[in-house]
Amino acid sequence: MLRTETRPEGFGDQQTDEANIIADRCVSLAENQMDEGKWFSLENPEPSYIWNLESVKRLRNRPGVTLVGLDQCAFGGPFKKSTGILTNCPWLMRQPRCGDAPRHTHTKLEGRIWSYRENREVWMTAEAAEYRTGMCEAWAEAWLEWLKTHKDKPHPARGVAAASKGMTGAEQEFQRRKGTRGRDVPRWDAQSSQGSHRVGRLAHLGCTSIGGA
Ligand SMILES: [Zn+2]
Repeated sequence: MLRTETRPEGFGDQQTDEANIIADRCVSLAENQMDEGKWFSLENPEPSYIWNLESVKRLRNRPGVTLVGLDQCAFGGPFKKSTGILTNCPWLMRQPRCGDAPRHTHTKLEGRIWSYRENREVWMTAEAAEYRTGMCEAWAEAWLEWLKTHKDKPHPARGVAAASKGMTGAEQEFQRRKGTRGRDVPRWDAQSSQGSHRVGRLAHLGCTSIGGA
């Protein structure tokens, strides 16, 4: 057992500690986005212990941030796969659940199956990790709709994040540094990664073409 309800951060083994550092870093990047007046979303299984980590709870307490639940079967997927999205994006706040979809059945996420995509046997959970096309399309359409109606104000208010409950600016800064393992500016960290730079540029191009449509 790696984590429990009362010990969501685990028991100090290497695997769990490394995962915690990644989670803390994601929170730092999300906080940085909010401080800059920008959007973020973090996705993980809904029943995950990640939502109870101290850093994630801090992010959850910020004004405008909501943990939204959805079931991937509601987007036409074969698995129920209840998923949580922690976000400040207004267009992601309403997501469908299993009961909202027409009658359907679920494939259980158990055992191993043949993946035609990878041409080898994989765990069912690995095969289900991919986002459903229906979900991607629904999110893209929701974003597009939102942009159309918010042309004048496409960004959240800058610095709303600073009003984090019960924590001074210095404490927040300390937590942020801890989360980035001493890297003071998460943005530099993201910029130093070739891959994220490329994805960011693509996303920016996408925004520009949508904004201009
Ligand atoms: Zn369902």
